[in-house]
Amino acid sequence: MKIYDVLILGGGASGLMCATHLSKKLSIALVESNDKLAKKLRISGGGKCNITNVNVSEDNFDGESELVEYALKKYSKEKLLNFLDRNRLELEVRKKRYYFCKNSSEDIIELLKRGLKGVDTFLNTKIVSLKKENDVFTLKTTSTEFRAKKVIVATGGKSYEKIGASEIGLEIAKSFNIALKEFAPALVGLTLQKEQFWMKELSGLSCYVNIKVEDKILNEEMLFAHKGISGPAVLSASLYWKKGPISIDFLPNRNIVKELEGSKKLASSLLGLPKRLSKELLNAIDLEDKECKKLTQDDKKKLKYLHDYSFSPAGNFGFSKAEVSRGGVLAEELYKETLESKKVKGLHFIGEVVDVTGELGGYNFQWAFSSAYVCAKSLKLDIIN
Ligand SMILES: Cc1cc2nc3c(=O)[nH]c(=O)nc-3n(C[C@H](O)[C@H](O)[C@H](O)COP(=O)(O)OP(=O)(O)OC[C@H]3O[C@@H](n4cnc5c(N)ncnc54)[C@H](O)[C@@H]3O)c2cc1C
Repeated sequence: MKIYDVLILGGGASGLMCATHLSKKLSIALVESNDKLAKKLRISGGGKCNITNVNVSEDNFDGESELVEYALKKYSKEKLLNFLDRNRLELEVRKKRYYFCKNSSEDIIELLKRGLKGVDTFLNTKIVSLKKENDVFTLKTTSTEFRAKKVIVATGGKSYEKIGASEIGLEIAKSFNIALKEFAPALVGLTLQKEQFWMKELSGLSCYVNIKVEDKILNEEMLFAHKGISGPAVLSASLYWKKGPISIDFLPNRNIVKELEGSKKLASSLLGLPKRLSKELLNAIDLEDKECKKLTQDDKKKLKYLHDYSFSPAGNFGFSKAEVSRGGVLAEELYKETLESKKVKGLHFIGEVVDVTGELGGYNFQWAFSSAYVCAKSLKLDIIN
C-alpha cells in the first residue's frame, strides 16, 4: 500500500487551504466524507462567505492567545487578502467591517480547489479511526485504508451535522491521549427564562445593542427570534457566555437620562426605537409611558436599566443552529510553529478542531486559513531541511 507523505483529514476551509500551500513535492492525499468539498464554506455568510474582518486581533478569539497571535502574525488578514487578490477573488466590505465574496462563496471554493492539483482527493470517504505504528499512520475509513508519514486533522467542529460535521477530530485526539475540551455550541442564539419571554413577542424585530458578557462588550445588531434572541451581537456574545448574567444596553452610545431633561416627548418616543420595541422595553422595566417632564426620580432610575438590562439566558439553540463549536484540542498540546501535537510526532491539528474560536465576523475562516498556512509552511520546511 502506498505511503503518502501527508494525509489531510477533511476537505473544508482549513484542509483545502493547507493543501493549497503544501509543497507539491510531497505526495498528498485528502479525505472527505461528503460528496462535495467545503459544504460549510458554501453556505457560510448566507452563501457569500464572510472571509475575514477589517479588524483582526487575538482579542476577537476565545482560546489560548499565544497560538492565535502567532498564526495571525504568520498569516495575517493582509496576507490572506493578498492571496485572494492574486487569485482574482472579488470581495466587498460590508458595514465597514466584514469582507464577503462579492458574487458567491463558490468563487473561493473554486479558488481553493485549484490548489488541489497533484493532491489525491477522496470524496464519500468517511474516517473511522487513526493509528500509528513504526512512524507510519494508518487511517481507517468506511471504504478503504490509507497510510501516511504525517497526518493533518482538519475535520472541523460538530455544528451542522446535517452537512457532514462530526466529532471525529476529537475522537482521534482522545485515541492518542491528547487533552481537549469537549465541543459546545457557539455563535448561536440564546434561549430565555420566563421573565424575558416578552422578547419572543418581538420576533422579527432587530436593533443595535451593546451586550456585555464576562469582560467583553459586543456591539452589533440583535435580533428578537421566536425561540429567543439571536443576531450578530448575540451570536458573538454566546462565544463567551457559559452561564450567569449578560447585560444588554438597548441604547448604546447614548445617555437617556441626560436626553430626557427638558424634552416634551413621551418616554417611548424619546427612545427612538421601533414602537413595539419601545412599548415592550417600558413594560419590562415597569415604567408607565408618559411625558419626559412628568418622569419622577424613580422613573428615571428605571429608564437607566435600559443601558444595563441584566438577565441570565436559559441556554442556547444547540449544535444544529450553532455556526461553530467552542472547545477542541487544547492549544497547550500543540507547537504553535507547526500545529503539531507535542505528544504524537507527525500529527497536526488545524482549524475549528483546535480550541480556538472566533467571534462572528469572518474570524473563524481567518483562523482556519491562518492555522492551515502555518502548518503547511512548516511541513514544507521539513522536507527542505
Ligand atoms: C451556517 C454557517 C455559516 C458560517 N458562516 C461563517 C462566515 O461567514 N464566516 C466565518 O468566518 N465562519 C463562518 N462559519 C464557521 C466556519 O464555516 C467554520 O469555522 C470553518 O468552516 C472551519 O473550518 P474547518 O476546516 O476547521 O472545518 P470545516 O470547514 O467544517 O471542514 C471540515 C471538513 O471535515 C469533514 N469531515 C468531518 N467529519 C468527517 C469524517 N468522519 N470523515 C471525513 N470527513 C469528515 C467535513 O465534512 C468538512 O468538509 C459558519 C458556519 C456555519 C455552520
